[in-house]
Amino acid sequence: MNANRQAMPIAQSANGAVRDHLAPVFAQYPLDIVHAEGVWLITRDGRRILDLYGGHAVAALGYGHPGWTRALTAQAESCNFQSNAVPMEVRTRAAARLVRFAGPGFDTVFFVNSGAEANENALKMAFAMTKRTHVAAVEHGFHGRTAAAGALTWGAMQKWYGFPRAPFDVSFIPRRDSPAIAQHVTEKTVAVIVEPVQGVGGAFDMGAEFLEALRRRCTDVGAQLIFDEVQCGVGRTGYPFAADMYGVTPDMITTAKALGNGFPCAALLMSPQVAAAVKLDALGTTFGGGPMACAAIEAVIEAIESEGLLDRVQRVAAYIRETCIVGPVIGHQGAGFLTGLRTARPAKEVHAALLNRNILAGTSSDPNVLRLLPPYVLEKQHVDLLRDALGGIKP
Ligand code: PLP
Repeated sequence: MNANRQAMPIAQSANGAVRDHLAPVFAQYPLDIVHAEGVWLITRDGRRILDLYGGHAVAALGYGHPGWTRALTAQAESCNFQSNAVPMEVRTRAAARLVRFAGPGFDTVFFVNSGAEANENALKMAFAMTKRTHVAAVEHGFHGRTAAAGALTWGAMQKWYGFPRAPFDVSFIPRRDSPAIAQHVTEKTVAVIVEPVQGVGGAFDMGAEFLEALRRRCTDVGAQLIFDEVQCGVGRTGYPFAADMYGVTPDMITTAKALGNGFPCAALLMSPQVAAAVKLDALGTTFGGGPMACAAIEAVIEAIESEGLLDRVQRVAAYIRETCIVGPVIGHQGAGFLTGLRTARPAKEVHAALLNRNILAGTSSDPNVLRLLPPYVLEKQHVDLLRDALGGIKP
């Protein structure tokens, strides 16, 4: 190690506590997690916290899932990495498994690393198919922090976008406003991107009628329909994808988060028509589709299918809706394990009160929605703990 580097003092804050070197961009929960198992997080001081947030919707199988752990260990022992230039059976198998899981309408996968990257590539494909310059998104949607995805994220320009201008013309359709679609989606529109169930926007489901109207309009004007299922996909709604739940087939689906259960990975699913426009060297990635990521993807889909987790998500989510409208909670929205509990008090206060009672939930950009994104292995007995905790919080 370089001598200068060794001599560098560890930064200390005014009160003498050791400060770390991470960019200070995330507000920190008052938690120090040292272990996790199933749906439980265990802190350094021995608290057991019920995790209803799953690390922003990522920990779909919960913690320490044996099949997922075995698959990653076996892949690490056999071959931890080769690039996309080298054919690998595990990559071919993961793509086939994901296409089969997604159902009719998609036959091609491009693996990448993050949700934003999947969206950038979906947009790139849409632009490759036409000479147009306009993209429509939906109010309150979130699509990531890169140049194109951020330009389509509601409120980003005012808050954190950071680039001098958007790379294309953008307009936002009000949520569930079918009559407004025609004015936003025209012969100039390359693509429409929509989360069928918004995550950051407050577990807000778009409803079949709005999504069907988007599908019709995109077909009429020749625009690509992109479902951003980075948060609501891979079983979270109790269906493989929210597209299946609504019975609406987009031209592309982007997905990430639950797909790897914590191993970073994402995917762009394409219809045969979109896939026909893919050209050699048009897209690229170093890590996307790496063998470890592909082993994780296979293990996640295998667990969802073999353990009946889609049924479990539907059943336990229904139980949440039936039993948890208590204390400060006055209603529910969203779908499956992307459920929003509408609160009479600010959701932040309910979040803090739950954490004091050893339950970790999430908030959203809607100040009165508590967002639940639990692992799919959650059981009714865990929901009873949530109900009892909510019942003890002032309405
Ligand atoms: N799209 C949606 C719907 C998301 O919720 C997110 C992240 O929260 C993203 C895209 C961006 O994903 P990533 O953070 O992996 O780039």
